[in-house]
Amino acid sequence: MDLSGQLFPPERLAAAQRATADAGLAALLIPPGSDLRYLTGYHAHALERLTLLVLPAAGEPTLIVPRLERPAAEAAPAAATGIRIVDHVDGSDPYPMVVDALGGPGAGAVGLGDRMWAEQVLALRDALPGTTQRLAGGVLRELRLRKSPAEIAALRAAGAAIDAVHDRMAEWLRPGRTEAQVAADIAAAILDAGHATADFTIVAAGENGASPHHGTSDRAIGAGEPVVVDIGGTMPTGYCSDSTRCYVIGEPPAGYRDYYAVLHEAQRAAVNAVRPGVSAAAIDAVARELITDAGYGAAFLHRTGHGIGLDGHEDPYLVDGNDRALEPGMTFSIEPGIYLAGRHGARIEDIVVCTTDGADRLNHNPRELAEL
Ligand code: ZN
Ligand code: ZN
Ligand code: ZN
Repeated sequence: MDLSGQLFPPERLAAAQRATADAGLAALLIPPGSDLRYLTGYHAHALERLTLLVLPAAGEPTLIVPRLERPAAEAAPAAATGIRIVDHVDGSDPYPMVVDALGGPGAGAVGLGDRMWAEQVLALRDALPGTTQRLAGGVLRELRLRKSPAEIAALRAAGAAIDAVHDRMAEWLRPGRTEAQVAADIAAAILDAGHATADFTIVAAGENGASPHHGTSDRAIGAGEPVVVDIGGTMPTGYCSDSTRCYVIGEPPAGYRDYYAVLHEAQRAAVNAVRPGVSAAAIDAVARELITDAGYGAAFLHRTGHGIGLDGHEDPYLVDGNDRALEPGMTFSIEPGIYLAGRHGARIEDIVVCTTDGADRLNHNPRELAEL
């Protein structure tokens, strides 16, 4: 099914323009990345040649692209809505095109894409003297936080795809194979399952499992060693997957089942606590309290979760101090972990969507310790 039309509805640009005006900004200047993809459906690569969406608070948006990328830009969903596309040739200075698109060099305050390269930030500062530079993120975050039904469908498809990879773990996890060998198999399977890219493959055996963002190594996996497998990719729609499960070949070490049971209960309780109006911090607190009460508080090294969408990590962050109330359509991970340095660790991660009456999980593999 081609969801692209619904994924990038033409009214999105107008909504962003209204939000830009409300924020007191004259325009947003958006380079390639997830914000550009959100606004236009255009999946452009960040290169030294300037690609920039100039989105004024009022008036016609302009997409500035290198000439050789014009056909790609014209194929993007936003082009079908009649967005103005202008191009520049190699060797020419594209920054006067930005001034033109803004109607002059003194535009007031402009919001720059949060991850714009510094060389472009400084070039824009030179091209637009008298213009104040701010971050565009605050404006776009509010729009991107609540996913549309089409976006949720895209994230659900991503969840099903990564679930299909976890389902196959017994094919690859065997004693004597290294973390890196297993990760290579997983990366291929992430693509086989329908992702456009395999973004990360954490395979952390034994003591490496106590390092939440371990990655992989040439360490061979032994029998009886818990293995934390946290994997994700980006679907052709641009939407991301992210799921963690724990595996053990044979019998886990003494004590592992005990704290795994605590973690399992904490993850379940945090998912069950999701509903509109509850704060992001409160969900973190639910998981943290159960883990702390069981004596593992210091071993839960990170926040309980992060939003997910066109970025693998985005708002809302489920972290102490984030008082933002959850709303229907927000999508985020619930991924408490317990890490015992020098020994082993565990994490259970599902993506969920906040609905009108609770959480809908987008990952469905069993959460019990998988004994292979
Ligand atoms: Zn992480
Ligand atoms: Zn995650
Ligand atoms: Zn993860």
